[in-house]
Amino acid sequence: MENIGSMESSVKMKLFVECIIPSYACNMACEYCYVPLSKKNHVKPVDLAECKEKIGDALSQKRLGGPCMVNICAMGETLIPTEIIDIVHDILADGHYVMLVTNGTLTNRFEKFCKFPEEYRHRLFFKISFHYLELKKLKKLNIFFENIKMIRTAGISFTVEITPDDSYIPYIQEMKEICLERLGALPHVTVARDERVRGYPYLSKLPHDDFVRTWDSFDSELFRFKDSIFGMKRKEFCYSGKWGFVLNLKTGVYKQCYKGKVLGNIYHNIDEPLHLYPTGCNCLEGHCYNGHAFLGFGLIPELKTPDFADQRNRVCVDGTQWLSKEMEQFMRCRLKESNREYTPQQKKKANIRSVNCIGRIIERLGLY
Ligand code: SF4
Repeated sequence: MENIGSMESSVKMKLFVECIIPSYACNMACEYCYVPLSKKNHVKPVDLAECKEKIGDALSQKRLGGPCMVNICAMGETLIPTEIIDIVHDILADGHYVMLVTNGTLTNRFEKFCKFPEEYRHRLFFKISFHYLELKKLKKLNIFFENIKMIRTAGISFTVEITPDDSYIPYIQEMKEICLERLGALPHVTVARDERVRGYPYLSKLPHDDFVRTWDSFDSELFRFKDSIFGMKRKEFCYSGKWGFVLNLKTGVYKQCYKGKVLGNIYHNIDEPLHLYPTGCNCLEGHCYNGHAFLGFGLIPELKTPDFADQRNRVCVDGTQWLSKEMEQFMRCRLKESNREYTPQQKKKANIRSVNCIGRIIERLGLY
């Protein structure tokens, strides 16, 4: 991909749609994986037939109001369910942009994505986790890098990201060397959470200063931003539920956020608009652990954050970049550019509505 630098997007993002596939199936077994062991041992194939049949109509631009950023992530490896190819195809056919989270090993799936029309490929992005020790153990390191080469040649955007687990610390230098050699740049670094503990704290035994010093050497905007917001309870007015939502692709149930209120089912009454209202100041999470995307796209508009594009892109030693021109432009969008912010009065009403069911009863009775 050519070096294009940052530029203003002409296509504006209407909504950020965070899609979850409740599939625990995975072809890897990383020690630090957040999927609970009990779930890994009882993996049932997930039935995505309804999603495959309806997703194009359910997420049409007419219904959503414009082009959206659709992120898809399973609990295990996202590319294992066979329906994923058709599902992504139909979302791209709607004119949306799609991000897929993957471990980068399933070559036959990547081959299928590479056969999509060129215009679709430019709106497709893979978030590829670099599970270095597991890749080495399974002798899949070369497959991993060859798959990335294949999608890159096809004009599909990607990022490579490390989970900063303590077990990787002795291997930092060799991970850097192999990424510079095979990807032309260092990987980004996420901030892992320990989902076994309430509030999801850092998944590291290091004191915080040492943890930051260790992983900051990757010069990752993703790491810097995630670390800066980690553990901070959000009290601002959040438009999650209105400018974006969390969707279970299997059941069709969509919510304000991971723990937000249920808003409806996208597979029901497909001809009707979605039923959206914001979380406001009622965020139920201890901290916004996926804020790199939610906040990076501007769900709390007054919050100054780095562009999502800068948390994902890398400029390589040869001047090429990991993001296509289209994807980079779209990732620089802020949701307030295509959505109207609430007045103080509207925010007050939204806060009452979101806080509990009494708010909704008051609304139905027209007592606002
Ligand atoms: S602050 Fe983050 S976690 Fe909380 S509702 Fe908004 S997007 Fe969701």
